[in-house]
Amino acid sequence: MEVKRNILLNPGPATTTHTVKLAQVVPDICPRELEFGKMMEEVCKDLVQFVADYETYECVLFGGSGTAGVEAMLTSVIGEEDCVLIINNGAYGKRMCEICDVYGISYVEYKSSNIEPVNMAKLEEVIASKREILTHIACIHNETTTGLLNDVTSIGQLAKAYQLTFLVDAMSSYAGIPIDMEQMNISYLVASSNKNIQGMAGLSFVIANRDQLVSLKEKKARSFYLNLYAQYDYFVKTKQLRFTPPVQTVYALKQAIEELKRETVEGRYKRYTKSWEVLLEGIEQLGLTYLVEKENQSHIITTIVEPEVEGYSFEEMHQYLYDRGYTIYPGKIGEANTFRIANIGAIDEHDIKGFLKELKGYLQTL
Ligand SMILES: *Cc1c(COP(=O)(O)O)cnc(C)c1O
Repeated sequence: MEVKRNILLNPGPATTTHTVKLAQVVPDICPRELEFGKMMEEVCKDLVQFVADYETYECVLFGGSGTAGVEAMLTSVIGEEDCVLIINNGAYGKRMCEICDVYGISYVEYKSSNIEPVNMAKLEEVIASKREILTHIACIHNETTTGLLNDVTSIGQLAKAYQLTFLVDAMSSYAGIPIDMEQMNISYLVASSNKNIQGMAGLSFVIANRDQLVSLKEKKARSFYLNLYAQYDYFVKTKQLRFTPPVQTVYALKQAIEELKRETVEGRYKRYTKSWEVLLEGIEQLGLTYLVEKENQSHIITTIVEPEVEGYSFEEMHQYLYDRGYTIYPGKIGEANTFRIANIGAIDEHDIKGFLKELKGYLQTL
């Protein structure tokens, strides 16, 4: 079966391999069958092993996009008596605050620049001043809003020093940037099936320290569907999710995991980094600039300042590139006119070169 290959330069869902696409074409199966349960168990084990030791960490799957996982994590982990410090340096940090607002979860917002790294000394001052009330700290690893990479190792050290449970949204870093949860002192980490893991959309998962996960039994959950402990406990007992999973997405994820095992996270990070370097070089050659200093970037997504040329329009540029097989993404930050290019998925530097050639073509039409 031939399937047209599009180059997605949006930050997920990402371009997938032909084999991942085809892995969804399977005989119909009831997801409550043991055969399917065993497959999910394997998938969970592998998802843990990319970032932690399966002896001490667990993976809990949810049907839903990445935000479902973030919502499950925040609403299940932060109890009635708890208070979380949320580092907000982009749209996704802000989203965590918005989720807490909806559920009435108590939080302290630590606002930081969208483009400059978090000032660790200032952050520590705020933590120290609120140490009486704080129990948890949460941040985004790769702020997809701009491509700013947060230093989770240093934040994890602060968490440890102040005895705060550390929660990380690693949606756009997991599987693309090496992570060691134990070494980084991360208790809960959330990601999804359709970004750097290069699977299909529809699944979100929370990877958690088992002892801490089990201790959630004592906490009153705030959501019925997105209850982390209930989902874990039910799976341990039945090898089933509580509610219908996106069956074919699980098969695609299993195949995507096999492909990641072959490439390794380290290898994938190198491939993404190479694409990103080619992108930055090409952008500079076209006279364009990017928003975040090179050394603070994630190598996953780049925010590019729009050209100040008569006749330029993002919509027209998008359409020009879309017609040629490249999907680009608008900017997401208020003060600067930008667009974004992600280099994740089953693409490499040659695809980025192809994109740069078409981008040059568009700029020449102006
Ligand atoms: C993509 C993403 C999410 C989740 O987005 P969904 O559209 O719900 O899948 C959350 N956080 C970050 C940092 C992301 O990049």
